[in-house]
Amino acid sequence: MTQPKPQPGILDIAPYKGGEGAIMGVDRVYKLSSNESPLGASPRAKEAYRKLADELHRYPDGAADALRKGIARHFGLPAENIICSNGSDEMISLICAAYCGPGDEVLFSQHGFLMYPIAAMARGATPVKAAEKNWTTDVDALLAAVTPKTKIVFVANPNNPTGSYITAAELRRLREGLPAGVLLVVDAAYAEYVSRNDYSHGAELVAERDDTVMLRTFSKIFGLGALRLGWTYAPENVVAVLNRVRGPFNVNAAAQAAGVAALEDVTWLDRARSHNDTELPRVTAALNALGLNVLPSVGNFVLIRFPGGAQQAQAADAALRKRGLILRAMGAYGLAEALRLTIGTADENDLVIAALGDFLNKG
Ligand code: PMP
Repeated sequence: MTQPKPQPGILDIAPYKGGEGAIMGVDRVYKLSSNESPLGASPRAKEAYRKLADELHRYPDGAADALRKGIARHFGLPAENIICSNGSDEMISLICAAYCGPGDEVLFSQHGFLMYPIAAMARGATPVKAAEKNWTTDVDALLAAVTPKTKIVFVANPNNPTGSYITAAELRRLREGLPAGVLLVVDAAYAEYVSRNDYSHGAELVAERDDTVMLRTFSKIFGLGALRLGWTYAPENVVAVLNRVRGPFNVNAAAQAAGVAALEDVTWLDRARSHNDTELPRVTAALNALGLNVLPSVGNFVLIRFPGGAQQAQAADAALRKRGLILRAMGAYGLAEALRLTIGTADENDLVIAALGDFLNKG
């Protein structure tokens, strides 16, 4: 039978593979593959989620009004410039749907988040990679890669999977070096974890301009990955465009209710942040002491580079899996010599450190 023909570019997409959560034949697994919070969601968010069961027959508020107001209050931003989405993944797709098409280029850095090329190609646009320096976004390389076809530039700050970041000054230099009107998307999914004074998630640039947006998510420090909830701070013209392309009820009611409650639980957020502040340097130091090359990270994950290259990384992955420890292989990011580890509970982190110690001693 004749098959329907997808749009050009779609069959060239390498489908996104999420972090695995199970291993055949292993009962007890430790999922450290998707940068989820080891503390889970706030008890208040869980309660709000449970309470929603009695309202399942109702459509959600299509404008996500209470949630946008909650975000505005929590982050000190104007509610009318906030737009919510079904995870920030959806917003990456919506931005591409609205701002690029066949013949256009979408620019991002060498080891940038995989959803950027996927969303660009789904719209027939051409993804363009700019080389990184020292596993960090290189502003000069991005600026050098700009052509008249460039419509969108995605920068994850901090970047996943490298854990590196660029300073507020560098981000501003990027923005000012890009042609006005080229949409700069600062994807700050891990912003809440960063404790550096010279870091910026880009909100100040959004406030100043018509062509810059900041993406955020509830999937990481807020621990609501299952509900799919992201939000974007954008200038009025971009909000008006995105409101035209999103689904009318793109954020489900459970996500809205849990999101509002999670924002109110500042104590829970502080706990998640301080857990990471303790465990991130501890894990980094312990793994480096084993002779591994752990990139300095400002997020809730580390990229572990193996001195023996891709082969050793693969063997380490297999050894970890035998103990139920699931990290993320990085071949799809051009980093086959590395595994990405999400910072887990102290016990989970100890298991990884011990397993890699044993692996290296035997290896
Ligand atoms: N951006 C970056 C940089 C990420 O690492 C992720 C999660 N892997 C996302 C966006 C997507 O997050 P969400 O769960 O909100 O779709």
